[in-house]
Amino acid sequence: MTSGVIDLRSDTVTRPTEAMLKAMATAEVGDDVYGEDPTVNALEERVAARLGHEAGLFTVTGSLANVLGVRAWVAPGRELLCEAQSHVVRAELGAHAALHGVTTRTWSHSGGLVDLDALAGLVAADAGPYLVSTAAIAVENTHNFAGGTVQPIADLESLRSTLAGGGVRLHLDGARLWNAEVRTGVPAREYAALFDTVAVCLSKGLGAPVGSVLVGPSDVIAEARQWRKRMGGGWRQAGVLAAGGIYALEHHVERLDNDHDNARQIAETVADAAGDVVDPAAVETNIVLLHVGAEAERIVEEAREEGVLVGVVAPGVIRVITHLDVSAQEARRAGEVLAGLVR
Ligand SMILES: *Cc1c(COP(=O)(O)O)cnc(C)c1O
Repeated sequence: MTSGVIDLRSDTVTRPTEAMLKAMATAEVGDDVYGEDPTVNALEERVAARLGHEAGLFTVTGSLANVLGVRAWVAPGRELLCEAQSHVVRAELGAHAALHGVTTRTWSHSGGLVDLDALAGLVAADAGPYLVSTAAIAVENTHNFAGGTVQPIADLESLRSTLAGGGVRLHLDGARLWNAEVRTGVPAREYAALFDTVAVCLSKGLGAPVGSVLVGPSDVIAEARQWRKRMGGGWRQAGVLAAGGIYALEHHVERLDNDHDNARQIAETVADAAGDVVDPAAVETNIVLLHVGAEAERIVEEAREEGVLVGVVAPGVIRVITHLDVSAQEARRAGEVLAGLVR
């Protein structure tokens, strides 16, 4: 990190490494609206192959990848089911409703996980002429606001086998699917195989400066490509950015383990000072939630004064996210600062 500040507000704050910048600077490019950027095409093919889907679409953000994926399945006035704290319903500024007429109903789970019983009570593929019909279910893996939790693959398999089909599609918001893969050893493609469309980020823990990829069936991705352009998201020599994504996929997936270790270390240090603030065993990946109550704003401010940046993500809850630009030593230091403030 520059200037000694340890920025744990998000894993989006990473800067491209020298080697990544070199890959970007030397990327072969063309006009992607004409389908002629070889580096963008390579990225899209590579991510699709890695996730076992037919085709991919490079998008400027994860939000856009989600909007395009959900739009593919949910016609105006129909419904998307998702967990109440999920990114699609909380953190995309209502895009799905504002742009595509998607209505939403939610289930709540403290860990952000799929709740098959709750879902069974919500799903209605054909709700008749009066109630809203369910068109799709969105799942977030790992779950951001629940603290980087991993969806158990067995539950996702049950979701696929019991509740999907019959007109109900599954979309995976896999912004941090790589973290789930590294944590569990379950290949990303095994998660992805259970979903009709999958969105993954390159700019979170993987450290690329920009970009996400939506994967799915070829016809769906072709249509999403048109919608991306319609929404102003077509781009030209975007291979410069795609090269950063390819580099990130090649070099920055396995190392996510370090981020998970660092997150656990921070949680343990804070828990040693105040056991009721965080349970280190609940820290599965690179996100730590500190339940500090009314002190949240004070702690964020005082941590900032000590060079540690964190944020409040819910009333009384501070989120700490580790990433590529935070070393083990910096994580230790951040843990000590936060432990000193929560005590
Ligand atoms: C960050 C994130 C996204 C995408 O965010 P953008 O800022 O639009 O790239 C989507 N889903 C989850 C769970 C995220 O954490």
